Amino acid sequence: MSTFKAPKGTYDLLPPRSATFLAVREAISTPLRNSGYGYVETPGFEDVKLFSRGVGESTDIVSKEMYTLTTKGGEELALRPEGTASVLRAALQGNLHKLGNLPVKLWYSGSYYRYERAQAGRYRHFSQVGAEAIGAEDPALDAELIILADQAYRSLGLRNFRILLNSLGDKECRPVYREALQDFLRGLDLDEDTLRRAEINPLRVLDDKRESVQKQLVGAPLLRDYLCDACKAYHEEVRALVSAAGVVFEDDDKLVRGLDYYTRTTFEFVHDGLGSQSAVGGGGRYDGLSEMIGGPALPSVGWALGVDRTVLALEAEGVELDLPTATSVFAVAIGEEARRTLFGKVTELRRAGIAADFSFGGKGLKGSMKDANRSGARLAVVAGERDLAEGVVQLKDMETGEQRAVALDDLLDAVRAELA
Ligand code: AMP
Repeated sequence: MSTFKAPKGTYDLLPPRSATFLAVREAISTPLRNSGYGYVETPGFEDVKLFSRGVGESTDIVSKEMYTLTTKGGEELALRPEGTASVLRAALQGNLHKLGNLPVKLWYSGSYYRYERAQAGRYRHFSQVGAEAIGAEDPALDAELIILADQAYRSLGLRNFRILLNSLGDKECRPVYREALQDFLRGLDLDEDTLRRAEINPLRVLDDKRESVQKQLVGAPLLRDYLCDACKAYHEEVRALVSAAGVVFEDDDKLVRGLDYYTRTTFEFVHDGLGSQSAVGGGGRYDGLSEMIGGPALPSVGWALGVDRTVLALEAEGVELDLPTATSVFAVAIGEEARRTLFGKVTELRRAGIAADFSFGGKGLKGSMKDANRSGARLAVVAGERDLAEGVVQLKDMETGEQRAVALDDLLDAVRAELA
């Protein structure tokens, strides 16, 4: 072991488990790529103000969890704690919203950083695949995103997840509710921190996980009762479209989420096998975010699904993904001349698109066959001096153990036939 370890709250993705992560990223992005979402990639760090303005000064993400730094040139940067603000910034900077076709639909995949209290399922470096549909106010768009996330999880074989859905209202009705909630909270027996939060961001108090707080919240005014007619109608349409797609969800009045930019539709995907870090993904509408970061009015909706927690959810459900083995053919060479010849053959197989690997390190037959076994290859190609003298190699089926001589020149065709 080296003197160094991965920093606290982080971990390395190593084979074979890392293959599951790749497969999860692929499975989440497939329905998006199939639905008009284009790939976007943004820098790992941004101007810190993008997040303090966008995500919200009073949120835990900005006030406690951001990795900030001052460069030698004096710029104030932050490692990105989430994807939405960056993607919207990039779309505005690239003028994608002016090219005519709204909504601009984008998907992304990457690393995010939050200085969190590290625990199972909660890391300081984690990975998300996300989607944003920018510049349209259309309940079908909100429904599309919820349906696509459901499709992604189902395609992985996940079953024990639930979809929680809520509406947070808009700039007309939310302030009225906010005030009513504040009045209610001021009358409770809350600690100083929570009281302060009630003044800055009262909706977040609803999210408090402590039982002592939740008990007092019984009877709190519900946003549902304060939604304006436009928000109510919008939300009903989202619910109807999601239901019509056969996607089951639960209405959750208390779902507020930890980012300030959400308006109207908010949703979360929770998995019941994950303990306290049960959210595998979440998102919602953010109609005001563009203006908050200096852009034009661009009502938008999006989600981010956590790759780490999705992998944990698969493990919790005991789902084994059907991953293709990385290597189809493994070449075992005995002796110098055979090494040269078979190394050439491996290159030929690879150029023909066949996944092939080679017994490196100058091992003997026994050690090399062990490598062949471990690789999971369907076929082994074995050759020593005597085979080469006859112009053949031995082609071995690793499942049945059967072995036959194949002329060197016919190897590619023989391998193709066996793998077909
Ligand atoms: P959020 O941006 O907080 O809504 O997060 C969206 C999703 O990203 C969550 O549902 C999690 O799956 C994942 N996520 C957020 N924070 C973390 C973290 N610290 N560690 C692992 N996954 C996370």
